[in-house]
Amino acid sequence: MHTYGIDIWGEDNFIIENGLAKLNYASKPALVDIVRDIREQDFKGPLLLRFPHLTRLQIEKLYTLYNNAINEYDYKGKFNAVFPLKVNQLPNFLLPLIKSGEEFGYGLEAGSKAELFLAMTYNKIGAPITINGFKDKEMIHLAFIAKKMGHNITVIIEGLNELKMILEVEKETSLPTPNVGIRVRLFNSGGGAWAKSGGIDSKFGLSSTEILEAYELLKSNNLLHYLTMIHFHIGSAMTNIKPLKKALKESGHIYAELKNMGATNLKAINIGGGLAVEYSQYHRTTQYHLQEFANDVIFTLKNIAKQKGVEEPNIFTESGRFISANSTVLVTPVLELFSAEYELSNLRLKEENPPLIEELNELYKDMNGKTALEYMHDSMDHLESLLKLFDLGYIDLQDRSNAEILAQLIIKKAISLLEIADYEELKRIDNKIQEKYLLNFSIFQSLPDFWGINQEFPIMPITHLDKKPTRSASLWDITCDSDGEIEFNAKKPLYLHDVNLEKEEYYLAFFNVGAYQDTLGMRHNLFSHPTEVNVVFENNELKLEKIIESQKIIDILEDIDYDTKEIKKILKSSLDKSTYVILKKYLNENSYLKTSWSH
Ligand code: PLP
Repeated sequence: MHTYGIDIWGEDNFIIENGLAKLNYASKPALVDIVRDIREQDFKGPLLLRFPHLTRLQIEKLYTLYNNAINEYDYKGKFNAVFPLKVNQLPNFLLPLIKSGEEFGYGLEAGSKAELFLAMTYNKIGAPITINGFKDKEMIHLAFIAKKMGHNITVIIEGLNELKMILEVEKETSLPTPNVGIRVRLFNSGGGAWAKSGGIDSKFGLSSTEILEAYELLKSNNLLHYLTMIHFHIGSAMTNIKPLKKALKESGHIYAELKNMGATNLKAINIGGGLAVEYSQYHRTTQYHLQEFANDVIFTLKNIAKQKGVEEPNIFTESGRFISANSTVLVTPVLELFSAEYELSNLRLKEENPPLIEELNELYKDMNGKTALEYMHDSMDHLESLLKLFDLGYIDLQDRSNAEILAQLIIKKAISLLEIADYEELKRIDNKIQEKYLLNFSIFQSLPDFWGINQEFPIMPITHLDKKPTRSASLWDITCDSDGEIEFNAKKPLYLHDVNLEKEEYYLAFFNVGAYQDTLGMRHNLFSHPTEVNVVFENNELKLEKIIESQKIIDILEDIDYDTKEIKKILKSSLDKSTYVILKKYLNENSYLKTSWSH
């Protein structure tokens, strides 16, 4: 059985049973049944299935990992965690997360004013809020207001100017002062694709000299007791644990030094994010065990505290990818297979055909298991020659069409005849035999990290999993852009099934899309966010909650500041009434395709 690497990335949250991809939870529903359920309610196009129980599971895992380590090393500090809002701010994801996190005291991290407003509104009083990123005085004022609301909030400064603004707001208002954290600019940076957030030349944090200046500023203004946290973040999705250990040592010593200088209320080290998610379906990329990660944090900080004679710090983490990635699955209907039009029924051979076409026809008829590979290569050479002959004007359009159909039929027949060993080899070497699958989605909108940084996501059909996938696949999205393609990669080959979409439906799922993709996505070609739904369980029974349909075309146009009244007025005035009624209906639908019954 071809398992699409589910053992590597699936974490037992998804299973394959009877040819179907299923959720390994409660009644173990097949993903395709959930998809059909939604589509029957007339929500078509791509779908984002969100599974809040998986977010809850990840929160539980995170707390368990650290509390295990704390117990093992008899650590005196407490573990705290916040969810970085930038990783996923959408309400369908976030509101269930906050509910699940309540019993753990799980908080939120905000990196902008808009995110801070979300945190101030929805974070449970008592659960921590941290603020990172660059701030202006208004943002700092907001933090003071959050404190007045009763929030346990820490403003982590990225530079001395931010500290000066805190001092100003403290003087100018009668609001209570929030806790202050210092992001330290570490010498050691992380590894992995997102390592630029740390290191001596990183965009963020205070140098040692600036840390000392910050200390002096706080002290001379009698505000040193507000300094509670040291923060660093050396990069998202760390594949290797070594850089973390180095960063822990460096920040641990900074913490201890400041404490020994007199920062008595300094009680916490915030280690940022970094816990990796396995995105590969070919081989494991994460080189550490999650428990090892937590153990290293506790062990290293314990040793430094002992060495420097200070109390063991509380620990904060801001891992968001780990919490959110697996909660969301993108399901895209396959609209078309490139070779679908190359059917035998479309072949129109003439009484007399060019010799190479006659030969192609012979190859097609005579091919058997032994000759398949050879005939397929011959057919490709013949096709190439025939296309040249067309360019030179020696064969006509009908001949060219016959040549293309025969070449595709030969490929299909060869694949069905070849021994598996030959076929695997063949798929690897021969780009020409790829099938192109047209998917009803936009890569720019739904997989921006693939578009921007070539990030892999596990891809798997949600049906047909008991059948051998016979086609090496390239995936096309429906944007008018050649970047909207996931090309076949011989080193990481994706094999899919040869399906007849006239007779059967075929959906591809992209897993681990719950982190960053939702709001990083772009509306290229004005394709908006897919329809999304929360899949929840009550007494083992599946419920579809909060279906949010993909945006209507008219709303997308309004979002980019068109006067939609004017658009309607112009269209209405140039059409008769009944045609305009149809147009109005289309304007109120989303822009994904509806060209076939399986759209
Ligand atoms: N905290 C900060 C300051 C970050 O910059 C980031 C992401 O880059 C995170 C937390 C989230 O980290 P991760 O994506 O590893 O969960």
